[in-house]
Amino acid sequence: MLLVADTIAAIGTALGQSGIAIVRVSGPDSLKTVDKYFISPKKNKVTKMDKNTINYGHFHDENGEVIDEVLVSVFKAPFSYTGEDVVEINCHGGQIPIKKILTKVLESGIRLAEPGEFTKRAFLNGKLDLSQAEAVMDLISAKTDLSHDMANKQAAGNLSTEVKKVRDKILEVLANIEATIDYPDEQFDSMSVEQMVSKLSEVEGRIQNLLKTATTGKLVREGIKTVIIGEPNVGKSSLLNALTKENRAIVTDIPGTTRDVLQENINVKGVPLVVLDTAGIRETSDKVEKIGVKRTKEYINTSDLVLYVIDGSQNWSKENDLILELIKTKPRIVIINKSDLPQSVDIEIVKGKVDCDVLAISAEKSKGITQLEDRILGLFEVGNIKDSSHEVTISNIRHEMALKDAKSSLEDSINALKCENPVDIVSIDIKDAWQSLGKITGESLSQNLIDEIFSRFCLGK
Ligand code: GDP
Ligand code: ZN
Repeated sequence: MLLVADTIAAIGTALGQSGIAIVRVSGPDSLKTVDKYFISPKKNKVTKMDKNTINYGHFHDENGEVIDEVLVSVFKAPFSYTGEDVVEINCHGGQIPIKKILTKVLESGIRLAEPGEFTKRAFLNGKLDLSQAEAVMDLISAKTDLSHDMANKQAAGNLSTEVKKVRDKILEVLANIEATIDYPDEQFDSMSVEQMVSKLSEVEGRIQNLLKTATTGKLVREGIKTVIIGEPNVGKSSLLNALTKENRAIVTDIPGTTRDVLQENINVKGVPLVVLDTAGIRETSDKVEKIGVKRTKEYINTSDLVLYVIDGSQNWSKENDLILELIKTKPRIVIINKSDLPQSVDIEIVKGKVDCDVLAISAEKSKGITQLEDRILGLFEVGNIKDSSHEVTISNIRHEMALKDAKSSLEDSINALKCENPVDIVSIDIKDAWQSLGKITGESLSQNLIDEIFSRFCLGK
């Protein structure tokens, strides 16, 4: 697809003090615009520079005043990230030079890029498909090695390749049906109903295999939303500290210090954990108690995992049973803290009460933390995502929805074939499946949806 587009520019690096910063310009006017301000020692024209070259020189304003010493990278269409002519102006870090350079470029009629617009152009010019473009965003926002690795594989096209293979198989069946409809009297090697059912079932199986990775995939990409609950002073903040291995949470021995929630991003063997430390479930006054409980219930509802902390050195209370009841439908781990002190809670009795992991730890002495981390990973079966058999992992809810739609259309078509429904009716479901899968790579997605997806990208990418 040839795209007639205007020229856009944006700062491609993070703002702040740094060694270097980059202004990126993409589109038909990019070379000649930068030419107005760039002077190399040999006075070479930017428009005449070879593709894929880095050129040293100075960026001037229109009065010949030097703004900065720069390196200009020249990429020519279609051999660039966006597929258009691209110039990257590499200047000194710090906000002043980069902003001055961007301002000059914009003053010559270049438009400031929207978030994600460079990548959107790459997509529209066929440099990458939609799932790869989304992976580029995931690469930028990945917080752990594992999520980075997942994004890398998706950016490399692992998902796209599998989707394409599966779509081709669907297309074979579809083409066969179309041919029998269009040329009912022709003799050709048409597939039998059994053959079609078997092909479509194979495709369904492959989609199911992809879907199996979705739960864990999403958790690795977005992090396991974890909430730590428990009464004041049981050691919630200490546990958060032990998990972060940093002392960012304020730990104190005055009950109820954690007034509001505190959030930390933790890396558990490559899996991001977004942990909330809640205010104590029971607070001093009735009014506060109600707010506290209501809020805690909200946190419990919206989290993937509940860590319920109990002080093992204190007597078991009725509240403990109430809270266990409250969280019984959630993925949860009951933590008996302060195992370094004489125990009043009998862990065996607790284990008998609940059908989830019960673990004795000492948050303060950092005892049992590794076991806790293992239990968390075990609960979400993220261990198996690390082996290389998962070359393709579904980590994006949009992809998951499209796969589910495709699967359900395929099921319908297989059933219809088995019931000997007319093939032209069956082909509607098969086409739906083919279309749904095309949404993953962006081939069958409306312009509005594509715009919306790219608008969530960050500026300058
Ligand atoms: P929170 O109110 O539930 O967040 O509890 P904190 O984390 O603020 O801890 C309350 C008090 O218990 C502090 O004095 C901690 O030092 C202490 N504490 C927390 N964990 C342990 C532990 O494992 N052993 C002992 N002996 N004290 C602990
Ligand atoms: Zn606390």
